[in-house]
Amino acid sequence: MKKIFAILSLIALAFVGFFKGEAMATEKQTVIILLGPPGAGKGTHAVELSKKLHLPHISTGDILRENLRKQTPLGERAKTFMDVGKLVPDDLVIQMLLDRVSDTDCQKGYILDGFPRTLAQAKMLDEHLKNRGEVVTVNLSVSDDLLVERITGRLVCKKCGTPYHKVFSPPKKDSLCDRCQGELYHRDDDNEKVVKERLAVYRSQTEPLINYYKEKKGLFYEVLAAGNKSEIFENLLHTIQKSIK
Ligand code: AMP
Repeated sequence: MKKIFAILSLIALAFVGFFKGEAMATEKQTVIILLGPPGAGKGTHAVELSKKLHLPHISTGDILRENLRKQTPLGERAKTFMDVGKLVPDDLVIQMLLDRVSDTDCQKGYILDGFPRTLAQAKMLDEHLKNRGEVVTVNLSVSDDLLVERITGRLVCKKCGTPYHKVFSPPKKDSLCDRCQGELYHRDDDNEKVVKERLAVYRSQTEPLINYYKEKKGLFYEVLAAGNKSEIFENLLHTIQKSIK
């Protein structure tokens, strides 16, 4: 009797597992891709978009920095590229991204910040997202002078990742996060020399993705990311909301 009960339980579990897997595979996703040079405000706006749209914010830069802090093999390999403002090789970043988007919190979709950055990454993402739902790509455009000024004055919370700026958006208390009281720090690669290299890498490897997404004839928008932060955010949110309704 016990044996029959155990077999029936296993069959029931297999059925539940099958339908759950099926539901995960067929649930339509909303994926938002934020394009734009370093300092365009992708991270800042992604944090707010994530709260409004109830979708997780995935920053490949944050995941890599977490690996650096924990001194994982991935972190060790990535460090040599990140320190000098170069891109981490595609195979490493692509696998890392695929692992992250397979987490259950990404079932309904996610917001990508800093990915894709190369044509190979964009093509892999297309392949992965095929028939899975809506993809909205927004390019945040800003002039180079403003980017350098924004990046070199940037401070980030060690605990929750909230970004600040020494002049444009300072914390209430020096070096402490307004939200969680975590310690604020200046990223190693946010100095003028590395920023110039990051911008050059952006122009040669990432900027061509703007045309790639335009030519795909999917949902592609440009949002001017200079000026008042909350106005930029409202514009960005409105653009996304009207396209995913
Ligand atoms: P971010 O925080 O997006 O400015 O990224 C910081 C650094 O992480 C970049 O300068 C790259 O070295 C690396 N990185 C982040 N995302 C990617 C990506 N999608 N592909 C390659 N390297 C990346």
